[in-house]
Amino acid sequence: MVPGHPMQDHTMGNDRTLRESLDGVGFALMDTIHAITALYDNYIWVAEGDGRALVVDPGEGAPVTAFLERHGLTPVGVLITHHHHDHVGGVEELLERFDIPVFGPAAERIASVNRPVTDGDTVEIEAIDARLAVLGVPGHTQGHVAYHGHGVVFSGDTLFAGGCGRLFEGTAAEMHRSLQRLAALPDETRICCGHEYTVKNLEFGLRVEPGNQALARRLETTRRLRDEGRPTVPSLLAEERATNPFLRTGVAEVARAAQAWAGRSLDHEEEVFAALRAWKDSEG
Ligand SMILES: [Zn+2]
Repeated sequence: MVPGHPMQDHTMGNDRTLRESLDGVGFALMDTIHAITALYDNYIWVAEGDGRALVVDPGEGAPVTAFLERHGLTPVGVLITHHHHDHVGGVEELLERFDIPVFGPAAERIASVNRPVTDGDTVEIEAIDARLAVLGVPGHTQGHVAYHGHGVVFSGDTLFAGGCGRLFEGTAAEMHRSLQRLAALPDETRICCGHEYTVKNLEFGLRVEPGNQALARRLETTRRLRDEGRPTVPSLLAEERATNPFLRTGVAEVARAAQAWAGRSLDHEEEVFAALRAWKDSEG
């Protein structure tokens, strides 16, 4: 652990649990979802049920094992969204202690993955009653996958609260398609993403769309949460559709702002998306 960077975990209280969306699959999985802070601004997700835990994108091992011990949880599986070290760096350490399946994108070289998955697959972990659909969402990396089920999507570095991941390996067109795919999930889907970038994302969003009142309100709430040292995730997909500029490429004010920044007319949403991504990148 980084000295001076206290490990924290954040448990969503019952008001933010996912019981209402479980719909006949039993309450074993995702009774409670925890966001463990790791590295600098990463989130490792732990979905808990019946004393068992599913761990998502463990970029570090120590905070996860400490968390599991503190809560008396046995890990029954790991989900990996993409190959970046801050999402997989802790897997080996977990595997040294636990013989568990590690699901991850077949299209990426990740040594610790022992259950490669691809778009259209379903991840099933009986011990925790988990059934999650694998969605191929290239753009940030070429093989990036998201896991959707039980009213939750683990979106890694594709869809963030208020923003989206950088295009390290994919094209803007691919990322736009991937985001559109996630945006088509049900309104009440909880977005469990890989990083705490929300304030900066929403500040950018407000520069794109200064007239968006819902966005201004969300930024205020988000700043308050951060001032209190609390996570701003998970967010709701409905909230993302209303305030995340990267999901709003079809909105006239967003398209106008992107065109003004690009200095030319943009004829397709995909081009609006590409301009927004380049604009955000140019601001560091
Ligand atoms: Zn990444």
